[in-house]
Formats: sequence, C-alpha cells, structure tokens
Amino acid sequence: MELVIYNTLSRKKEVFKPIHEGMVGMYVCGPTVYGDGHLGHARPAITFDTLYRYLMHLGYKVRYVRNITDVGHLEHDADEGEDKIAKKARLEQLEPMEVVQYYTLRYHKAMEKLNVLPPSIEPHASGHIIEQIEFVKRILDAGFAYESEGSVYFDVEKYNAKYHYGKLSGRNIDELLENTRELDGQSEKRRSIDFALWKKAAPEHIMHWPSPWSEGFPGWHLECSTMGTKYLGETFDIHGGGMDLMFPHHECEIAQSVAALGHETVNYWMHNNMITINGQKMGKSLGNFITLDEFFTGSHKLLTQAYSPMTIRFFILQAHYRSTVDFSNEALQASEKGLARLMEAYERLNHLKASATSSVDVKGLRDRCEEAMCDDLNTPIVISHLFDSAKNINLVADGKATLSQEDIDELKNTWKVMIEEVLGLKRDEGNDSTNDAYKQAIDLLLQIRLQAKQNKDWATSDKIRDELAKLGFIIKDKKDGFEWSI
Ligand code: ZN
Repeated sequence: MELVIYNTLSRKKEVFKPIHEGMVGMYVCGPTVYGDGHLGHARPAITFDTLYRYLMHLGYKVRYVRNITDVGHLEHDADEGEDKIAKKARLEQLEPMEVVQYYTLRYHKAMEKLNVLPPSIEPHASGHIIEQIEFVKRILDAGFAYESEGSVYFDVEKYNAKYHYGKLSGRNIDELLENTRELDGQSEKRRSIDFALWKKAAPEHIMHWPSPWSEGFPGWHLECSTMGTKYLGETFDIHGGGMDLMFPHHECEIAQSVAALGHETVNYWMHNNMITINGQKMGKSLGNFITLDEFFTGSHKLLTQAYSPMTIRFFILQAHYRSTVDFSNEALQASEKGLARLMEAYERLNHLKASATSSVDVKGLRDRCEEAMCDDLNTPIVISHLFDSAKNINLVADGKATLSQEDIDELKNTWKVMIEEVLGLKRDEGNDSTNDAYKQAIDLLLQIRLQAKQNKDWATSDKIRDELAKLGFIIKDKKDGFEWSI
C-alpha cells in the first residue's frame, strides 16, 4: 500500500516518495511560548504526532523537528508591535527566558498528557541567532533584501518578478498590495508587503543581539527557514503546521528559502484545519479561549465538566485533519462516550475465549485500517472500522458469536497497532479532577485509620493498612500523620 498525502502546495493528493529511501525529514511549526497551550495548539500537535507515528509504523526512520518560537513573534504581524514573550516578561517582571522556560515545560506536560511523542529535535529560535544572521546575508547577497535604518527587509516585488510569491496560499501580489494599508512615508519599508528579516531593536526592546546591521532581533518567519534547512537539509520531505500559518508565515518561509538557496526546500506541505468553539473562532477577546489545563480540570466557564486528555485526543482524531472541528460540550461528551465504548471493547477483546471456529467474519480489518491511514491519514475512517469490529467483539464476549484463536490473535494485533501505536490512544488515567477526588478519598481513608489508632482500635487500623497494601499502596506513618504512595 502506498501512503498518499494531500500536498497543500500542489493542491492535490500525491503518493509520498521520500528523498532518501527509508528516511523522512519532517518539520512542524511549534508554539510561541508565552502562555498556556489551548485546543488550537493540540490540533497540529496531535495531527503531526499521528503522521509521525504512522511513518514510523510504515518502517521509516523519521527525523521530526518541531520548533519553539521564543523570539521575534510580534503582537500585530511580523513587523509591528512588541515581542509577545518580551511583553509577558515585562508585565510579570521576569527575564524573557524565564517566560520561555516556564511555558515550554507546561507545554511539554500538556503534550505528554495528550500522548504526543516528543519530536526528535526541538530547536529554539533564540538558540539559532547566528544561523539566522547567516541566512539573512545569503538573501541579501542574492539581491532579494535591502537594509533600511538598521533593519533588513525582504523585497517581495523583486522576488515575485523572478519566482512566484503567493504560490502556497493562492494570493497574488497585486491583491495583497491593494489590501494592505498605504505606507505613510515614515516607514523604513519600500512596500507594505515587504517583511522584516532583521529588526533593529527599539531602546525599550529587551531581547536583542548584535548583527552586521544593528543590535536587534530576527523576523519571525526566518527561524523556520533557518532551522528547517539546518537540521533536515536544503531539501526535505514534509513541512507541516496549522492552516492559519499558511499566510503569511509559510509563504514568507518559502520566499526566504528560495531567495537564499535558489530552489524550493520542501516537497510536501501539509496543513491541519482549525478548531472553532461553538461555531466561533477562538480568541482571547471572545472569552472562548480555553486552555488545555482548563479542559483537563473543567475549570472554564464554558465547560460543563472536565475532559480527559484522551477524550481531547480522540475528539480531534474523529475528524479528518483537513476538516474543521467545532468544539462544544455535546461533541466532547459524545467523544468521551465513544472512546469509553471503544476501550471497553479493546479490554473485552483481550479476555475473549476462543472457539473451534469463527461464526463472524473479522478478516481484513488490518488492511481496511491501513488503507484509510494511507489515504491522507483518514483517522475517522480507521475509528469507524474499529467501531464495526467492536460490535463483533461484543457479540463474542456476550456468547452470541464465536471466534477462533487465530481470528482473536489477528484482531488483538490489529487493535493494539491501530489504537496504541498509530492513533496514540491509551487507557485514561482520569482527568485531573477525578485524580484529585481519588487522592482525597485515600487521604480520607488514612485519616479514619489515624483516628482508629488513636482510639486503640487496632483491628480497624490494621485492616485499612493491610487492604491498601494489597492494592499496592505504600503507607508510611509519621510523627504528625502519614504519607502514602503507590
Ligand atoms: Zn514556522
């Protein structure tokens, strides 16, 4: 079976052919770390995690690079406004790298809960300033950039005369010129559509580095051109990210790389679609900006309950990555129930008793699932095949049908591969609030034991200790109470 993926650049499905046999280089735009991850961060992470997992499942050695943007992502667009991380640092009186460290760790924690595998390399933009300066020099040498007042801008019109600016997003330069505001004559840029490769830092700007042009910082788009080619080579297989990054970020990335190197660097561009909340775009000002932690604890006012990380993952995988997904409590509750049904069938499958013959046909599940995955990662179809299979498993478990040992083994294998390896689903460890409830219940039990001890009711106190020990709890008595672990 051949893996077919939709290439955003050619706007069609293509058979995936890696540059180097058996190996895949893949770059995905990661988060800007100045706040907690939200549902919008979860979607590209889970989409490309599933691709990463599936490529490895197909036997490829994958080098997966997902960057951390920690400099140069400005408030308004690539060129205007305060750096998002510097602003957070200023408001909270922190060193910018403290902000980066804090939110990177929190991002990793959320990703781990979602069972998103860590990438092979996670480069930081701030750790690649020298390489970015070198990249700017190459674009300048090629004649597609100009220096102005200590900043360096990409000359979009000049580039477009030789190459094609807008090929990824389908925009054209005349339209863009019409839709951007006129320059007021004060601007350092020649044209409004030009974008910054290097910005001279204003005196109040706290993140800056020396360069041949000024004490300043790199433009946001530059890091991905630089780090992608540094770690994956001047041409690599896959570049992914959310659809919101297609323009201007990825369009500018293509222009920079082609200008500097004289050729395209990416063979397949892949974009996941966006998540809306009750039909609306997500946004801080709309009050519907729900962080992943708020989903896990149910602590946002729009949420009627907590949702476990696996429910979130399953919810995202139930839609094809190129379709929009609308979040609502009803939709997530349906996912929660669906996932529970699926995992229950998986559990039952592992305890099925074999018969001499099979009375239901369960053959071909593996092929059908692989076929769906090979068709541009069609995870909702894989999930529907598993639901069909669950019906048979339940019939056998209820004694209404039979399966041979051979069929059971094949099913077990397919389910394990698809559920655990490819879709990355695992048994839920519960959401944070159920975990809290569980911890409080153990504490309560041990308080009762403490009380029993004080009352010299040894029978009760020993019973609680022994029964908990049987379940795997380690209880340590302390002078002022107790401590427990599993
Ligand atoms: Zn990027």
